[in-house]
Amino acid sequence: MNPTRYEELSWPQMREAIQQQPAVLLPFGTIEDHGPHLPVSTDNTIVEAICHEVAQRVDGLALVMPLIPYGLDEHHMDFPGTVSVDMLTLIRYVSDVAISVARHGFTHILLVNGHGSNAPIADLAARRVVLETGVVCGAMSPNAAIDPTFAEPTLSQMRRSAPGGVAHAGEFETALMLHLRPDLVQMDKAIREIGQIKLEYFNWDHPEPSVLSWQDWWSRMSRTGVCGDPTVATAEFGRALFETIVGNFARFVREFRTIPLRPRQPPQTTVE
Ligand SMILES: [Zn+2]
Repeated sequence: MNPTRYEELSWPQMREAIQQQPAVLLPFGTIEDHGPHLPVSTDNTIVEAICHEVAQRVDGLALVMPLIPYGLDEHHMDFPGTVSVDMLTLIRYVSDVAISVARHGFTHILLVNGHGSNAPIADLAARRVVLETGVVCGAMSPNAAIDPTFAEPTLSQMRRSAPGGVAHAGEFETALMLHLRPDLVQMDKAIREIGQIKLEYFNWDHPEPSVLSWQDWWSRMSRTGVCGDPTVATAEFGRALFETIVGNFARFVREFRTIPLRPRQPPQTTVE
């Protein structure tokens, strides 16, 4: 029995876990093409590994649920193997899982998104959980946890790809997979393809933000499924990225757990 894996607890152990009030992490990924060199499970593999490593590092303050392996992916359906779930179904499904957890008494639930296009789904699902149960439920992407430190000299110096090189199945994800599951990476098939459009207010690369939110059909922007440069990825960079993500995410989880549950007020009739 691993005390950080939700599904390995018995129900009496679950009752004890509820007393401790760990942050419940719900990893949310997808099955989609990641170029000719990475498996379709890449997002799932990465987000699950991050959640479990974080749980090991926060002294019992996190409990990791089984991964939700399918996401919003209609725009990738031109690539064999992709699985997509309807967006409204997903919002309900993901929030139903978290609401079940809240009904048992867990008060801090975090939807940990490992697939960019799930972000609005995770956000809306978390909002529904809050509105229906009153617990603290939020959504985040572990890659986002890197942003503040990606400018750190060590990581930015280690990056080898040019702008546009990390967006999807590029240097980032390939490096992380070389670190986590090198047996699933076929580096001899890695291809550099940067077909995404870059404008003043639209950018599709890490870590620069984009003002315009726009997701085109994948096959309009990529022939291979890659948007980036996986050819320069190394396991060493993957290890450094993983350590940064996990370190930042562990601090994030500790802080998330301290968010207080404050009482709601009846409808106000005066300002006094
Ligand atoms: Zn991915």
